[in-house]
Amino acid sequence: MGVQAIVGAQWGDEGKGKMTDLLAENADWIVRYQGGSNAGHTIMNEYGKFALHMLPSGVFHPGKSNVIGPGAALDADSLLAELDELERRGVPKPKLYISDRAQLVLPVHRLLDRLEEERLGGRSFGSTRKGIAPFYADKYAKLGLQVSELLDETRLAERLERLMEPKRVLLEHLYGQPAPDLSGMAAELLETGRRLAPFLADTTALLQHALRRGERILAEGQLGALRDPDHGIYPFSTSSSTLAGYAPVGAGVPAREITEVLAVVKVYSSCVGAGPFVSELHDAEAEELRRRGGSGGEYGATTGRPRRMGWFDVTAARYGCQVQGATGIALTNLDVLGYLDEIPVCVQYEIDGERTDEFPVTGRLQRAKPVLTNLPGWRCDISRARTLADLPREARSYVELVEQALGVPVQYVSVGPERGQTIFCHR
Ligand code: GDP
Repeated sequence: MGVQAIVGAQWGDEGKGKMTDLLAENADWIVRYQGGSNAGHTIMNEYGKFALHMLPSGVFHPGKSNVIGPGAALDADSLLAELDELERRGVPKPKLYISDRAQLVLPVHRLLDRLEEERLGGRSFGSTRKGIAPFYADKYAKLGLQVSELLDETRLAERLERLMEPKRVLLEHLYGQPAPDLSGMAAELLETGRRLAPFLADTTALLQHALRRGERILAEGQLGALRDPDHGIYPFSTSSSTLAGYAPVGAGVPAREITEVLAVVKVYSSCVGAGPFVSELHDAEAEELRRRGGSGGEYGATTGRPRRMGWFDVTAARYGCQVQGATGIALTNLDVLGYLDEIPVCVQYEIDGERTDEFPVTGRLQRAKPVLTNLPGWRCDISRARTLADLPREARSYVELVEQALGVPVQYVSVGPERGQTIFCHR
């Protein structure tokens, strides 16, 4: 059956959580393969409304196996708190496996993230302060802690000493802060290890066996293509690859098994944090779209910050689909546009007086101006549509135009945050 990657084609917050929760019904495994608790996947289902940060979005389906892969940034506090919350709210205990190779986000990573943002002041990147950049910096500097190391006291003490050596200098001399006490850190981590131990497994072996048995795996991406460190709006990017191409690495499955890449695309733009955002809206127009967008407004699921809002940006979304290698699109939030007489869409960029269809490097992107065109609106509530035929003609044309412009078939149209508010496009 292979692996389907569910990934964002824009800046994140496209609705990947809703689509993963929906498609998990027909899958056996749901794997988070990159990023950490800076994710905020909003899910509405029979148990209520949830913002998942660390858990895979398959946890609401009893019997499905959920995996935190080796490529993810494991925030143990966030994960354990989410498991407690699910239990409190009546969700059956999910089947969860954590890769014994996954590395841990430590309190010192969160501390450094915050101190660096404060040091940068007005030049900050708008980090979610979940410790993600310091975590991945340590991982690639070979200083990180694999979760299995929490079960070995001697090894943990050695690894922690290596990790903290350069941090002491940084904390003291760059930030003027006392370094945390090593023995206290070790004791806390040993306790974390005891709590996580029941979930640890060689998830790579589990997934490889599952594939041999013909089971179906969903690889759930976090953030979106434009936040990818190699292909996105660097340095306003995140610290791990947000692309489907990274799914085999971060999940631990063979690359040839990724047979479908579902790019989740929102029909307008939103982004959290700093960086160029060509089709950005301001003031009342932004406020209105923000208020109407998503489920209960477009506010960060992790930070609660108001998201920056913009019209749909064809150039950015097409590029996002290309670098994702999209084989299909889930077009979300179509219902949100029902208040507009005419729907502005950014179809090209104008950079230094010239029009372009290309998504350029960040320096040029910062000089880009949007070329807008207006499409007819439909001016009604479409949240009860369940087939394409239920949509007003203008909404159908909008979907067709997006499909043509992006060059990828639209497989799902989402007309509300709930599972059932989805059109399966059998065309
Ligand atoms: P993710 O990180 O990609 O999972 O996206 P978020 O959960 O951060 O943001 C998507 C927002 O849109 C959430 O509030 C969802 O509940 C909501 N949502 C998803 N699909 C739809 C839709 O089709 N219509 C509406 N109105 N809201 C949606």
